[in-house]
Amino acid sequence: MSGPIAQLEELPAHNRLVPGSSPGGPTINLNQPTERGLETQLKLLITLQESDSRILEKQSIIRAIPFKISEVEVPLQKAQAALDKMKQQYELLEKKRRNKERSLDDMNEKIKKLKARTSEIKTNKEYQAHLKEIESAGKERYAIEDEILSLMEQIEASSREIKSEEVKLESEKEKLEAFKKQLEQGIQEAEKELSFLREERSKVVTSIDRELYDLYMTLMNSGRGLAVTEAREEVCQGCNMNIPPQLFVEIKKNEEIIQCPQCHRILYHKSTP
Ligand SMILES: [Zn+2]
Repeated sequence: MSGPIAQLEELPAHNRLVPGSSPGGPTINLNQPTERGLETQLKLLITLQESDSRILEKQSIIRAIPFKISEVEVPLQKAQAALDKMKQQYELLEKKRRNKERSLDDMNEKIKKLKARTSEIKTNKEYQAHLKEIESAGKERYAIEDEILSLMEQIEASSREIKSEEVKLESEKEKLEAFKKQLEQGIQEAEKELSFLREERSKVVTSIDRELYDLYMTLMNSGRGLAVTEAREEVCQGCNMNIPPQLFVEIKKNEEIIQCPQCHRILYHKSTP
């Protein structure tokens, strides 16, 4: 057996039953009064069910916590990945800018050299060609400068975006840490309550007849954590089926172990105050 129902039987360490030490006892007929009396047994089963319902609830709270954390963590990881991409983009723009700056230096050097050669030119035709060359180099330089300007604007925008994302992410991370701390506290409290509840449970279990306890655990497994339930106004609260009036009369006495004809859960009646 595994799963949450099986975990119910995890006794507190100091209270664990030694295997083989549980008294077998005579087989009881569920509807025959035992030494302790079925009325008492029914009360114990009701107490056990109450305790187990609380244990199951605490267990499910603890089990849900990792999912709650990942619900917050996953979008944060995505935001971090998006930020990393933005930074890569920024680096790429910076690299492009550096390359363009180098091209600009080269172009300035070229223009400087061209201008230096002007005095060496002899003919008018050569001179005209030379001027054209300087002019075209100047246009190229403007184009590079424009590209640098545009890159710088993009870099500035990217840097602003990164900063704002970093601030946002930092505050989200702080929120996550606070949330985790709160959840961890919740786990600790739930664990403490669980250990108290388990201890209480093991005390109750020792007073319950073995056959009844086995029936209870079988019903806990088949009844999704509900083995003992109320019969309210001739309706089983476990499966919502109507209970035959004659049987309901018997259940109302709370003297016997009576099972629902439909779901087999053990039924009891709560007298209305
Ligand atoms: Zn039922």
